[in-house]
Amino acid sequence: MSGLLTAAVWLAAIGLPTWFFIGPLAALATVAALALWRLASHERQIGRLISWAEQPLDTAVPEAGGSWSRVFLALHRRARKAADQREELRLLGERFRLAAEALPEGVVILDPRRNIEWMNPRAEMLLGLDSQSDIGMPVSHLVREPEFIAFLEKQNETGELPPPLQVRPIRSGGRVLQIRGTPFSAGRALLLIEDLTQLDRLETVRSDFVANVSHEMRTPLTVVLGFLETAQDGMANATPGEMAHYLETALEYAHRMQRLIEDLLMLSSLENDAAPPQDAVCVAALLAGVKEDTQALSAGRHVITLDNSGPATLTGNSRELHSAFGNLASNAVRYTPEGGEVRLAWRKQADGGAFFSVTDSGIGIASQDVPRLTERFYRVDRGRSRDSGGTGLGLAIVKHVLERHQATLKIESKLGVGSTFAAIFPARRIQ
Ligand code: ADP
Repeated sequence: MSGLLTAAVWLAAIGLPTWFFIGPLAALATVAALALWRLASHERQIGRLISWAEQPLDTAVPEAGGSWSRVFLALHRRARKAADQREELRLLGERFRLAAEALPEGVVILDPRRNIEWMNPRAEMLLGLDSQSDIGMPVSHLVREPEFIAFLEKQNETGELPPPLQVRPIRSGGRVLQIRGTPFSAGRALLLIEDLTQLDRLETVRSDFVANVSHEMRTPLTVVLGFLETAQDGMANATPGEMAHYLETALEYAHRMQRLIEDLLMLSSLENDAAPPQDAVCVAALLAGVKEDTQALSAGRHVITLDNSGPATLTGNSRELHSAFGNLASNAVRYTPEGGEVRLAWRKQADGGAFFSVTDSGIGIASQDVPRLTERFYRVDRGRSRDSGGTGLGLAIVKHVLERHQATLKIESKLGVGSTFAAIFPARRIQ
């Protein structure tokens, strides 16, 4: 409206004086020239507007004078609002991308033809893929396990989710993965990939452990049961000597079961007790107890010495420490032939810590067996361990106890010469 008014004022201001002083024809010509000039100016602004609209979205709106300035100003405000909204959307998209990348699970988006559209770095790592080269590729060409392909096909057929799949893809370097699929906008699918390797390993350890315990229990139980059944049937024909022998064997096997159960309970209590041991343990009393047990086990068959020149007090749990030190000392006795030597020592270390060591002149251990000694039920010589009353759990208990005391176990051994087992405590455990 104000544009029309301006034009009318211009026409009146130029047309009327021309009419008055020169004549109507000149006034008409002047007004026509003026109108043409205005038209040309509008055409030029429309041209600028069109060429701006053809530029990229973030091109600044051109400036103009006169009535067009309002048009361009309004456009400029709109363009700025749109740019702000685009920036907000970009930031939102970026946040989603960062969140998806930070997910502990692998995420893969498949397009309707089951080509990889997007994946996060975790998915790349778990599936052994590379987003540089594998985006756009059919996922079944990359993860080729038949069960995975069947899993994808099942989803294609029914449009529903098949139950989660557990698979060990070759590309994932032996990992056990759980893959869940879920339909996702317009025929796409989202794959969520979880690494179950650790859980799977734990499950294997658990089932191996149950199998080992059952196996360890079966033999002594069979012997004791055999004796009891024979006794029930009547042992009329057995001589007193035979009776005594049967009884002794049954008792020995019953004791073996008892030791096994005690060790299992000890391991279980070590695993379940989260509190770090914090008592002030008197080392002299602890070592005296261990030496006494060792002498009782040896029954005079070995030379047993104790050198206590270390700190007087250790922060920990005396029952656990007694069990760990006692296991090391009893192993030294059990794996050292008669007449051999077992030396117990408690000494200070230069860094403020201290160590308990047991050195024997026994059978020694081959170097390839040393790293596995603390595994539950690992024995170098199964028969020898059992015959000497071993359960195969002693060093596993030692390892647990030491871990709870932030201590480490050091093993040095030479086959046929002897071994030294040392429990090394850090300075913060010494009072
Ligand atoms: P075990 O009850 O069989 O002795 P441990 O866990 O205490 O179980 O020890 C595991 C294995 O380590 C033993 O079976 C034995 O083969 C070996 N071992 C442990 N201590 C010694 C040692 N002092 N000398 C030789 N071998 C040892």
